[in-house]
Amino acid sequence: MAERMLKFVATPQRMPEKRSAAERAHDWGEIYREFSAERAAEQASRCSQCGVPFCQVHCPLGNNIPDWLKLTAEGRLEEAYEVASATNTFPEICGRICPQDRLCEGNCVIEKGFESVTIGAVEKYITDTAFARGWVRPPLPVRERPESVGIIGAGPAGLAAAERLRRQGYAVDVYDRHDRPGGLMIYGIPNFKLEKPVVLRRWELFRAAGIRFHLGCAVGRDVSLAELRSRHHAVLICTGVYKARELGGPGSGLEGIVPALDYLTASNRKGLGDHVRAFDDGTLNAAGRRVVVIGGGDTAMDCVRTAIRQGALSVTCLYRRDRANMPGSMREVKHAEEEGVRFEWLAAPEAFLGDGRVTAVRAVRMHLGLPDATGRQQVEPIPGSSFTLEADLVIKALGFDPEDMAAMFGEPGLAVTRWGTLKVDHRTMMTSLQGVFAAGDIVRGASLVVWAIRDGRDAAAAMHRYIQSRAQERAAALAVAAE
Ligand code: FAD
Ligand code: SF4
Ligand code: SF4
Repeated sequence: MAERMLKFVATPQRMPEKRSAAERAHDWGEIYREFSAERAAEQASRCSQCGVPFCQVHCPLGNNIPDWLKLTAEGRLEEAYEVASATNTFPEICGRICPQDRLCEGNCVIEKGFESVTIGAVEKYITDTAFARGWVRPPLPVRERPESVGIIGAGPAGLAAAERLRRQGYAVDVYDRHDRPGGLMIYGIPNFKLEKPVVLRRWELFRAAGIRFHLGCAVGRDVSLAELRSRHHAVLICTGVYKARELGGPGSGLEGIVPALDYLTASNRKGLGDHVRAFDDGTLNAAGRRVVVIGGGDTAMDCVRTAIRQGALSVTCLYRRDRANMPGSMREVKHAEEEGVRFEWLAAPEAFLGDGRVTAVRAVRMHLGLPDATGRQQVEPIPGSSFTLEADLVIKALGFDPEDMAAMFGEPGLAVTRWGTLKVDHRTMMTSLQGVFAAGDIVRGASLVVWAIRDGRDAAAAMHRYIQSRAQERAAALAVAAE
């Protein structure tokens, strides 16, 4: 092993080639090119094959990273893919969009002196190669089971559960209110982070495995939860969180102040070739505009970078904390800065100016005060520090909360937490309704794709246990009756 691995001392970290900011600002393609086979093997060989791999410990899926790095270094890519896909339903997607700097790579033990192994890029390379060589197959079951499951929501949580349950032989029906599956992977996350064919090719495989998709079907409107409970042996709710947090203050109702997800969805739909009136009429289009994005998370980063690509005149991100305290990934901030986004750290909006339509944002400088009970430093405005930013499009990216779930499904018995997320028994992943499970952002709150996959897989295992224990109970009852 030593021959092929442990090369981190002599071999520097190299990411796949990153396209220049000037080039990528004019198109919607992903910003990194693919590794060559040699470069992937070289980078994988930097791994020191730790006895206790902290990369794996900090991967929400517990991916067996050292093993697939070693197999990649040895050129055994089909086996590497087998290992990578054993714990991850979408390794090619996580390799692209996980915030690796906070997860696996941020905990790679060679990081301190030598910069981490490029785990995400290798994971993407392995899986893209597997697709190119035809090693990725539909998740067909070995044998069919008589039971069926219904899954509400075709985001990563719902799709991960669908894949597991179909492999186990259940009839799987997925219901989604959108016209395409993928959830935020299709309509939230922009193409330059995750190209849409990468998501849609998985859908093709799932359909080929017999998973039935009922698209354009909003549960609670087109079909009731009660109806799905009667159709299926168990139901899983993976509806995500979509209620945008609002901005208050004078002028916050002016025209030209738009929610982030409306803006990103319009852009993604346009990229997919849809007709989008609010884009074409300029309502949700940054072309020729002075754009101010409010917020410091991944959604805000996606908005600023989308605005650059749409041809905005200027793009400014206003965030009330500093760079070190922002929730978004540092890598994304760096990409945004390279692409020409201006950051106003420690600044918050006070008022929106304009007559009918927004023309400027009045903001105030903030300073970081004492930590609160959670340990997070509080922000306080600095008196007399107001300043004005000209703006004709303001995008609100302040985060998301769950919708009213009991009302959405007309089920007052569906218990929620004080944050409005669905309450589940964390052992069984079952909600307060018998046979109804939940996973992903609707349980966890706005989170990450990799956590949604983890939750979806765990929920599938819990549903399998539930359905089989019920089947055994029924069989036992029948046996007693027959005696
Ligand atoms: P979702 O992906 O939200 O899917 C829920 C699905 O349920 C949707 O398709 C929706 O149409 C459907 N649905 C809702 N209600 C109903 C109903 N009543 N009936 C039928 N269907 C319904 N995470 C990362 O890891 N990396 C990133 O770079 C990243 N970037 C992000 C950028 C943006 C702009 C946003 C908003 C999020 C980002 N995230 C990122 C977070 C990530 O997308 C989510 O954590 C993840 O998609 C949650 O998965 P989910 O399956 O729980 O829900
Ligand atoms: Fe890292 Fe995400 Fe892959 Fe886990 S799934 S190894 S956190 S990129
Ligand atoms: Fe390899 Fe880094 Fe993981 Fe150690 S922590 S096994 S060096 S990738």
